[in-house]
Amino acid sequence: MIEIENDADYQAYRRRLFDFLWHEVEPLAGEIERGGEFPRDKLFPRFREFGLWGLLIPRRHGGLGLTTKQYLPILAEFSKVAGTVRVLLHVHNTSARAVAAYGSAAQKEALLPALARGDSSLTFAITEPNSGSGMDVACRAQRDGDEWCVNGTKHYITNAEFADLHLVCCRTGAPGGSDGSGDRRDRRALSALIIPTDAPGFTIEPMPRLMGNNGPYHGILHFEDARVAAASMIGGEGDGLEIFLGELEPSRAFVAASSLGAAERALEIALDFAKRRVTFGKRIAARPSVQAELAEMARDVYALRLILEDVAGKIDRGEDCALEASIAKLSGLETVMRVTDKALDVVGGRAYFSDYPYPLERIYREARINLAEEGTPSIQRLVMARALLELPAPLAIGTLGAPYQPAGTDPALGQNVPPDLSYAHDPEMPD
Ligand SMILES: Cc1cc2nc3c(=O)[nH]c(=O)nc-3n(C[C@H](O)[C@H](O)[C@H](O)COP(=O)(O)OP(=O)(O)OC[C@H]3O[C@@H](n4cnc5c(N)ncnc54)[C@H](O)[C@@H]3O)c2cc1C
Repeated sequence: MIEIENDADYQAYRRRLFDFLWHEVEPLAGEIERGGEFPRDKLFPRFREFGLWGLLIPRRHGGLGLTTKQYLPILAEFSKVAGTVRVLLHVHNTSARAVAAYGSAAQKEALLPALARGDSSLTFAITEPNSGSGMDVACRAQRDGDEWCVNGTKHYITNAEFADLHLVCCRTGAPGGSDGSGDRRDRRALSALIIPTDAPGFTIEPMPRLMGNNGPYHGILHFEDARVAAASMIGGEGDGLEIFLGELEPSRAFVAASSLGAAERALEIALDFAKRRVTFGKRIAARPSVQAELAEMARDVYALRLILEDVAGKIDRGEDCALEASIAKLSGLETVMRVTDKALDVVGGRAYFSDYPYPLERIYREARINLAEEGTPSIQRLVMARALLELPAPLAIGTLGAPYQPAGTDPALGQNVPPDLSYAHDPEMPD
């Protein structure tokens, strides 16, 4: 039984966990990824011993109840040692978090202890082949007595190979809108259902091999008049958007933490190689061009760490941080792409081979999943711009200390009067 009561407990747990990850998981990572077979019999019970299935589940329901600040370093370390382990546990923990946040007391009692032990696992199923990961969800659930009847398809679903439960985003509003208005953007038209793998009318089709993070296969979920009890709904009818977006927001910071781990490992590899490799009678670490690459990599890694520390605090304080979480996700992606690219350059041809001796090409491939997870860069920019345009002035995101604007001044204009910009408006041009 792991009890984390204070920072000393957490630090001791973190050290034990990292020992396990580097001694027992890291040596298997290359083979798991190449073979696409996850050694479930070997690792799943060890994950249970370390409480890894319940990292975000409250302690009263059998989990460790970590804060975001405590969780992010663990995710980063998963990603440093084995991307497939990070992906697997990230999805499980994010999905379990949704039940803890939005489930009824009865649902929490019924589901969370088994999820915390890893006796049960829940996927997070939004994406569909013919619509994006958003409000144009086509998978429909219709009420039929005390059941929901579900029809539709979800794809790319992580952990589909072994999970016994699936948190599925379904359209429950009338076609084109809950009020029959024809508006597919109706915010109350979506709901969250937990559908068990053995529900009648539900089948799972394995998906092809991935660019990286191979392990348990990703699945296509087919629902053909699939039946689930009415009580399987998380939250109320029409709460789906709030639930899925509510979980995607912190989960963007979780993905960014995985970028941080991969970027830091790439930097460690580049540093190690630069200190060992001698060309033309000198270590390459002595060459200004290599030093410049290492310096820029370190700058990127450090900046991402600071972003994550800030976002983690905001999530833990329950602050609205849609803007910051998307900034973290996008910065994480750009950081890990730049840093792994530079590491490849520093290590040269050797980096293009597997485990020769560094796992850099695996880490490079694994990190590219962060492009798609919890929304693409375009989607992050969209979320950021929307949130930014709604923020009050003065902005708090760049302010060191509490925002304060002296009376009679304006953060954009100082004491200048607002200009008449109408001259810039061409009446011939549509808005
Ligand atoms: C390995 C892997 C695992 C995944 N696991 C899961 C999972 O467990 N559960 C789940 O629900 N999903 C999962 N996903 C899906 C992931 O969230 C989506 O791939 C991602 O949201 C992008 O959706 P899409 O692939 O349909 O791309 P598309 O929507 O087809 O987008 C393609 C391109 O068009 C751009 N684009 C699309 N719409 C717009 C727009 N409105 N404005 C501007 N640009 C736009 C995108 O930014 C992107 O560049 C997984 C994906 C992968 C690759």
